[in-house]
Amino acid sequence: TTFIVTASYVEFAGEVGVLVCLEDITHLEQADQMRRDFVANVSHELRTPLTALLGFIETLQGPAKDDMAAQKRFLTTMHHEASRMERLVRDLLSLSRVEGQERMRPKDMVDLGALLKSVCHTLRPLTESAAVEVVLDLPDDGISVPGDSDQLRQVITNLLENALKYGGAGKRVDVTLHLSEAEPALRGSGAVIAVTDQGPGIDPQHMPRLTERFYRVDSHRSREMGGTGLGLAIVKHIVNRHRGRLRIDSKVGIGSTFKVLLPAAPQ
Ligand code: ADP
Repeated sequence: TTFIVTASYVEFAGEVGVLVCLEDITHLEQADQMRRDFVANVSHELRTPLTALLGFIETLQGPAKDDMAAQKRFLTTMHHEASRMERLVRDLLSLSRVEGQERMRPKDMVDLGALLKSVCHTLRPLTESAAVEVVLDLPDDGISVPGDSDQLRQVITNLLENALKYGGAGKRVDVTLHLSEAEPALRGSGAVIAVTDQGPGIDPQHMPRLTERFYRVDSHRSREMGGTGLGLAIVKHIVNRHRGRLRIDSKVGIGSTFKVLLPAAPQ
């Protein structure tokens, strides 16, 4: 805990005394530390692909100048590294946009069933290349909630992409939508979107930090799969903006369920 202590003489009712003020600035220090960590993380994440790109450019200008086969190979890797930087910058922009809007409550009604179908359709090529079967289970009656359609699309996309990335080839991913009549976490009724995979699961020790920016359970695997480490942080901020809840249930060796609860009507 950090305090600022100030003392001054005061005169009151003919008496002179000393007024001591204690100001707790722990939260300011923590916010400052978080900002420094964030800048350090972003710099590190950008520097790695940038260093690789510079190395390849120098090799192409020098030793590999006349080696066509090497040039082709290097260009593929350079494309991979540049894409990684692009994904990172895109996710950073999304995160900062969402953070800036967190106080503004979205009001448009969003048809969640239609949104889920559309995301599953868009991700079909990824689903096929991951050799994963996505099973979508929607209720007969449509469910709409007040929300920002683009942001809710991003939430579903991020969760489904993670299930495809970490769920494992040949496995199944279930995506469901249902109404929850009385959800205590929402202090009322709400819609529940659940994405369940049959992947390796997540050890309980990682749970509290999973939605932190750049937190990864397995950095090597995340990077290999094209992850930026920002997907769940973006999900958390969007869900907060909707006054919803994100719940993660996971069992090592069995799989994970990421549940998004969204209030049905403004509270
Ligand atoms: P990333 O871009 O690394 O996927 P995320 O913020 O989306 O970043 O996720 C953070 C970390 O949480 C991932 O690196 C991964 O270790 C873990 N994770 C996310 N989703 C799953 C899942 N469905 N199964 C297992 N681990 C997961």
